[in-house]
Amino acid sequence: MSLGEGMTPIVPLPRMGGAIGLERLRLKDEGLLPTGTFKARGAAVGVSRANELGVKKIAMPTNGNAGAAWAAYCARAGIEILITMPKDSPVSARVECAAAGSRLLLVDGSITDAGALSSQAVRDRGYMDAATLREPYRLEGKKTMGLELFEQLGWRIPDVILYPTGGGVGLIGIFKAWRECQALGWLQGPPPRLVVVQAAGCAPIVKAWSEHATESVAWKGARTVAFGITVPKALGDFLVLDAVNRTNGCAVAVDDSAILAAQRKVAARDGVFMCPEGAACVAAATELRRTGWLDGADEVVIINTGAGILYPETIDVSAPVLRAGVDLPELPQD
Ligand SMILES: *Cc1c(COP(=O)(O)O)cnc(C)c1O
Repeated sequence: MSLGEGMTPIVPLPRMGGAIGLERLRLKDEGLLPTGTFKARGAAVGVSRANELGVKKIAMPTNGNAGAAWAAYCARAGIEILITMPKDSPVSARVECAAAGSRLLLVDGSITDAGALSSQAVRDRGYMDAATLREPYRLEGKKTMGLELFEQLGWRIPDVILYPTGGGVGLIGIFKAWRECQALGWLQGPPPRLVVVQAAGCAPIVKAWSEHATESVAWKGARTVAFGITVPKALGDFLVLDAVNRTNGCAVAVDDSAILAAQRKVAARDGVFMCPEGAACVAAATELRRTGWLDGADEVVIINTGAGILYPETIDVSAPVLRAGVDLPELPQD
């Protein structure tokens, strides 16, 4: 089942990188994928395999973007899908689910509450469970982000990869891609240092990492503009922490004001309108350069997991509205 996903560009950020002292800052722009996020990768593989196995109906909880992607690929496969998501999820994701004809239930709660509803559908109504890490193929799809990145760099490993981490499947996938390529002899040398980036309003994995724990504790009152990484307790947290430790990486939390400022700056300086989750990585890179964890010569790749246009409310537009037919007013810079 394909909608043309894959091979997203690696885009240098020369002006933003220059401003924060990282001359080799780039992003892999996953916002250009079908449905607007890298979730299309997991859906393409997950839905294709479910279809091969004869699955007729799938259930999944989501913060929005995974639901949007699975709804589209399920529509294409003719598979019924039941999606449960927090009622505060981005409008764009809800609209994508509705357009694709999914069954959508909004819950007045978090992704954990959405998960409880979805689990009931799996247990009592015969739906296949497509929740994060409950089936193995979604991870294989997300792994392709890593495979592509290494291939695009000519089978070279960047020094550092920053990843906006919710459930952490993308990071687990990139680590798996590195391990497999290394075992095949396609990559040599040390792994890329993997950096978990979370929002200060929901940073369970960052907290666990800083306390040298092997698992996270469920985060209370999770709230951030970076909706896709609002995951209070990730099922695969121990795998994420293991990947970070084994690659000499680290884990960083950034607050919403830093995320929104980074989002605007990258768009205004380098023309890429990142999603807030991706922008969190720019804010984290700024901080890591300031503390010296990142060297100015490091080759740093940020995964921009989605398109900024999915979250139009994050940008404040102050444009004057003119009556039709009036003359061009004075402009501030004239
Ligand atoms: C789902 C999502 C994430 C987090 O992905 P995980 O691999 O599950 O950690 C990050 N950004 C966006 C835009 C997302 O939709």
